[in-house]
Amino acid sequence: MQLQVSRFESLGDEFHTRLHPTPLPTPHWVGWSGEAAATLGLPTEPPPDDELLQRLSGNRIADSVTPIASVYSGHQFGHWAGQLGDGRALLLGEHAASGLEVQLKGAGRTPYSRGGDGRAVLRSSIREFLCSEAMHALGIPTTRALCVTGSPAPVRREEVETAAVVTRLAPSFIRFGHFEHFSHNGRHAELRRLADFVIDNFYPEYRQADGNPYAGLLAAVTRRSAELVAQWQAVGFCHGVLNTDNMSILGLTLDYGPFQFLDGFDPGHVCNHSDSSGRYAYARQPNIVYWNLFCLGQALLPLLDDSQQALDALEPYKALFPAALQRRMNAKLGLDDPRTGDAELTEDLLQLLARERTDYTIFWRRLSLAQAASEADAGQAGQGAAVRPLTPHWQPVRDLFLQPEAFDDWWARWRQRLQLPADAGASAGSDSQAGQRMLRANPRVVLRNHLGEVAIRQAQAGDPSALQRLQAALASPYDERSDSADLADFPPDWAAAISISCSS
Ligand code: AMP
Ligand code: MG
Repeated sequence: MQLQVSRFESLGDEFHTRLHPTPLPTPHWVGWSGEAAATLGLPTEPPPDDELLQRLSGNRIADSVTPIASVYSGHQFGHWAGQLGDGRALLLGEHAASGLEVQLKGAGRTPYSRGGDGRAVLRSSIREFLCSEAMHALGIPTTRALCVTGSPAPVRREEVETAAVVTRLAPSFIRFGHFEHFSHNGRHAELRRLADFVIDNFYPEYRQADGNPYAGLLAAVTRRSAELVAQWQAVGFCHGVLNTDNMSILGLTLDYGPFQFLDGFDPGHVCNHSDSSGRYAYARQPNIVYWNLFCLGQALLPLLDDSQQALDALEPYKALFPAALQRRMNAKLGLDDPRTGDAELTEDLLQLLARERTDYTIFWRRLSLAQAASEADAGQAGQGAAVRPLTPHWQPVRDLFLQPEAFDDWWARWRQRLQLPADAGASAGSDSQAGQRMLRANPRVVLRNHLGEVAIRQAQAGDPSALQRLQAALASPYDERSDSADLADFPPDWAAAISISCSS
């Protein structure tokens, strides 16, 4: 793997510290993403020789690069937290052909470790590895994960665990917190340099555009963030720690910690054991992302003409997010572009799911399967306009409800909407393919906590087979596969007792 000095490093010494990782004894491969490897021109299996294993465990450094840890600050749980920084992440360098930055997470202490040990445990590393690649397969913008290496080195958390390193990939790991850092400290020259770097490398259209390019940047990040959180909400993903230092300037899902995909639909669900106030509850994520964007806007003020310019760049979020979410929900419902009444139809369904704590992923998948099956049937027997979901196809969906009559009423409204003629030029509409479209919008397998937990326990015991099997299923989340029915099933009772906190 040919790495060169990263473009980020060229920003200057104010932005980072050069240092080497702390070696990890006797590393071994735990997980490898063939797909992520392909983006770097690496083989689909981990190479048999020792070189890459040692490099990606932080034990050997290529001559062409010097690893760096970057400095940033941020708001954590709604409060200014001051300086943070890469406390356990090291940027190795940049992959020349793809332009991707290659970062080791868990490679030892840095000047930004504060009280931490600079390590990551195997459990959290596997979770980040699996989820990064799962999100990518779902089509949700995210940092990628090339691999996990493990070591017997002990790491103390609530109990003693073992160390691991995740190799992460992204065009950039710059966070809102990088901007906040220089702005808060009054270092406006560095703030401008950072913003110019991001614009020139990732948002070049705002260099040429009329008006203040930094306002253009803020507006663009606002749009990307609105799209991102809409995708999270639609798939039932809770990030868990939406602090401004975990917000990507590129609109990527970043820093997988206590994240969770919802099992039963509960808008108030809080997946982070440390989040006692429920600040980062599932349903609050859209508002929190807006709050975080506001912090970014504040940080950019020294580069803007006036504060009104920041407000003008942020304001569209209030319309962009609901519109993006409705588009995603319409896709889940097999509907064409949103129309009047769709928001109410969606909201009524979500209230129904919330009231019964219906399993979110299974509901959508069964609805899709039933629609596809009923379309196939109608194709043979002519369009039958049922008024109730009482044919056998719908039984698996009705079975999810204690009070199926409420679902029946909603179903009749939805089916009526499905049969409306499509808008001219719309990509979807009233045809016999809604079910097939739904099957590509509603995943069959998501990384539920208990699935990760089973894979982790086996990997901790030295058996990677459950991890590999889960990884394969997550890589094609929309495919119907008979060999992984258990991975698409309801969570077991013990899943509710899994407790995941920030410390990992
Ligand atoms: P997080 O909540 O994972 O986003 O981390 C918040 C801050 O704490 C970041 O600056 C991390 O680099 C740092 N951090 C988290 N865990 C550790 C650790 N084990 N050692 C050093 N720094 C850490
Ligand atoms: Mg973080």
